[in-house]
Amino acid sequence: MRDPIADLRRIAFLLERANEATYRVRAFRSAAKALAGLPAEEVAERSRAGKLTELPGVGDVTARCVTESLAGEEPVYLRRLAATEGTDLDAEATALRTALRGDCHTHSDWSDGGSPIEEMALAAVELGHEYLVLTDHSPRLKVARGLTADRLRRQLDHVARLNEALPEGFRILTGIEVDILADGSLDQDEELLARLDVVVGSVHSGLNDDRAKMTRRMLAAVANPHLDILGHCTGRMVTSRPAGVTGPGDRGHRVRTRPESDFDADAVFAACVEHDTAVEINSRPERQDPPKRLIRRALEAGCRFAINTDAHAPGQLDWQRFGCERAARCGVPADRVVNTWSADELVAWTHA
Ligand SMILES: [Zn+2]
Ligand SMILES: [Zn+2]
Repeated sequence: MRDPIADLRRIAFLLERANEATYRVRAFRSAAKALAGLPAEEVAERSRAGKLTELPGVGDVTARCVTESLAGEEPVYLRRLAATEGTDLDAEATALRTALRGDCHTHSDWSDGGSPIEEMALAAVELGHEYLVLTDHSPRLKVARGLTADRLRRQLDHVARLNEALPEGFRILTGIEVDILADGSLDQDEELLARLDVVVGSVHSGLNDDRAKMTRRMLAAVANPHLDILGHCTGRMVTSRPAGVTGPGDRGHRVRTRPESDFDADAVFAACVEHDTAVEINSRPERQDPPKRLIRRALEAGCRFAINTDAHAPGQLDWQRFGCERAARCGVPADRVVNTWSADELVAWTHA
């Protein structure tokens, strides 16, 4: 017996993973939500009578998927998507991916993500993660609806409640992707940064700062005792993203390519070693940040890494494979990657 709601959610996941436009994904998530509120007999009855589309949120395509699923068949739509599933990883990348136990950089619809925290968490559970660090944006990033101190406090209460209902052995860790401001300070209250499990810090403004200024800015941020992970350090965008795809820095707007910021990478990586700040390997296909030559230099410097998705939708949580592929090409060993640790080990490290 197939579960039509699980099939709809699986389709949404695969569409997100394939970087499809948010409105296409939303059709499936909305339909899944509409049906989840009804008794199974009513769904079956409506399917037989052709009355599924009378429900708000259910259209012709999603109704057909449900009917096929109830008949015990894999929906045609799902079968076609599953056939285009990602490429296989080689042995080194697979070993690294298998060693990862969580993701330290993810967004929800509290900032510029497309889905509620609970949906992100459920997708992480299905991927086999033990934890998901929720890192919505900080106040100054207004285009991404960055969280004020008050909203972040409310989010912390909300996450505490969600954690009580989530399966044993999995938890949402609290966090932030905090903006590194022009002077290198971090864009959130000190008291809150101290409370969070994981602090990722990223540059989102003034990406064209000259080399000396950008280096000073990054060195100040890395030296901040609250910073745990330096996010997408060059800020580059290697491919443009079409409008309508959920991603960073906007709510579905087009994003153009952008060159790397100019900074003294050796000085910044040396500071990361000194202050035990991990360098993020950002897995987003449009970012691929840092580039491989800088991953190699960070590795030689002795840095730790975090292989993160920066997911803005549940299906994007599966992009860790891309980061693992690039890390493996540079010879990054699993014992240098902080998200190969358990949640307790990770939090012990961030609070050390
Ligand atoms: Zn960012
Ligand atoms: Zn982000």
